[in-house]
Amino acid sequence: MSLDNHPSTQEMQATDAAHHLHPFSDTNALNARGARVITKAKGVWLTDSDGNEFLDAMAGLWCVNIGYGRDELAEAAARQMKQLPYYNTFFMTTHPPVVALSAKIAEVTPEGMSRVFYAGSGSEANDTNIRFVRHYWASQGKPEKRVIISRKNAYHGSSMGSASLGGMQAMHAQGGLPIADIHHIDQPYWYGEGGDTDPETFGLERARCLERAIEEIGADKIAAFIGEPVQGAGGVIIPPPSYWPEIQRICREHDILLIADEVICGFGRTGNWFGSETFDIKPDIMTIAKGLTSGYLPMGGSVIRESVAQTFADHGGEFSHGYTYNGHPASAAVSLENIRILQEEDIVGHVRDVTAPHIAKKWAEIGDHPLVGEARMCGMMGAIELTPDKAARAPFKAERGTVGVMCREHCQSAGVVMRAVYDTMVISPPLCITTGEIDELVARIWKVLDQTHAQIKAEGVS
Ligand SMILES: *Cc1c(COP(=O)(O)O)cnc(C)c1O
Repeated sequence: MSLDNHPSTQEMQATDAAHHLHPFSDTNALNARGARVITKAKGVWLTDSDGNEFLDAMAGLWCVNIGYGRDELAEAAARQMKQLPYYNTFFMTTHPPVVALSAKIAEVTPEGMSRVFYAGSGSEANDTNIRFVRHYWASQGKPEKRVIISRKNAYHGSSMGSASLGGMQAMHAQGGLPIADIHHIDQPYWYGEGGDTDPETFGLERARCLERAIEEIGADKIAAFIGEPVQGAGGVIIPPPSYWPEIQRICREHDILLIADEVICGFGRTGNWFGSETFDIKPDIMTIAKGLTSGYLPMGGSVIRESVAQTFADHGGEFSHGYTYNGHPASAAVSLENIRILQEEDIVGHVRDVTAPHIAKKWAEIGDHPLVGEARMCGMMGAIELTPDKAARAPFKAERGTVGVMCREHCQSAGVVMRAVYDTMVISPPLCITTGEIDELVARIWKVLDQTHAQIKAEGVS
C-alpha cells in the first residue's frame, strides 16, 4: 500500500537497488534487504513509506539542528531562487545573500573570526583548509611548513584531502589515502584507551602526543593541527577538560595554525554556538557545514581569523582555488534564515539552560544499565558504550560491532534512530527536541538496551 503520492515501498526499493549507489554501504547487503524509504518529517519525527514513525535522535546526519518542517527555510530558498537562483563569486562579483550571511557568520562566531571562504560541504571546506594553510606559509617564505597533524579516528570528510585529514582506517584502506604530509596522533578517547590513567592525566598525555610529533617532524615543517572539539563520527568522543588547553598551548608555542572542525559542534550542538566556546579554544580557522543550513540545503565554509586572513591577503596573491557553488545564493539565503531562527527563538540558550541539563541527568541514569560501560553527553550529542563488563570497560569478545548492530536493529523496532559506531551507540538529536520528547527518547533507549541485553544473553554473546 502506498501513502501520499509515491510508488509502493517494494517498487521504490527495487528501483533504488537497480539504480542508486549509496554512500558508506555494502551494496549487495543493502539491496538484499531493501533501503528504508523516508517520505516526510516534522520536528524530531521521521515517517517512512509504510507510515512508521521514528524519533530521529541523529538529526539526519548530525545536521538538522532546528528540526524538520520549518517552512520559513523553504520559503527563503524559493524567494531567492526566483530572484537570483545562481551567480558565481569568482570574477569580482558578489550577491546580497552571501554578503549578509558573511556578516552574520562573523557576528555569531567567536571574537576575531571574521572572514568566510565558502564551500558546498564540510569535505570541500576541509580541502580548502589544506590548500589555505599550506599556501599561507609558502607565501611567507616557508614552503616546507606543510605537514598537517590530525588524530586517529578523526572524521573530516570523504574527499581525497579531507579523508586524508581524517583518521578512519577503513577509509584510508581504499583509494590510495592518505595524501602526503598528513600525520595522525592518538586520540583523547579515555573510555577506550585510557586504561588505569585518570581522565585529566590522560587528556594531558594525549595532547602531548602533539608535542612529541612536533619534536620528531620539526615545527618548521608543520603548517597546522586540526581537530573536532568533540569527535562525532568517531563515536562522540568528549576529550577530558585538560586536553584542549594543552593542545592550544602547544600550537601557540610552535607557531602552528589551529583548525577547529566545527562541522558537527557548530551552531549550538554543544550548548554554545560553537564547540570552541565550550572548550575555550581560540582557533585560527573553523570548518563549518551541517548545522549552518540545518541540512535544508548543502553549504560549508572555512571561517578564518581576521589576522590570519589579512596576512594571507597581504602575501598570498591570488588564491588559485574555488568551487562553482561558493556562497550559493539559495544556500546562503537558507543559512541566514536558519541562523535567524536559532537567534530569535534562542534555541542555543534553551539547549544550554534547559534541554541539555535535562538529557544529561537522564543520560547519567542510562549509565547504570548493566550493558552500559559509560554514558557520556556534551550539550546535545552523546554516546553509550556497550560492554559485557562495566567495571573493566571491556570490549566484547564477539567481533567488534556485533552488539552495536543488534542494538541498532532493536532501535528500528522501537521507533528511534540511533547510530552504531562499532559497539558505541551515538545520538545527536535536533536541538528543538523538547524535554517531553527527551523523556520519550530515553524510555525507548532503555527498552532497546533491555532487549539487546536479553538477546546477547540468549545467544551467548560475550
Ligand atoms: C560530516 C563532517 C564533515 C564532512 O562534511 P560533509 O558535508 O559530509 O562533506 C567534516 N567534518 C566533520 C567533523 C563532520 O562531522
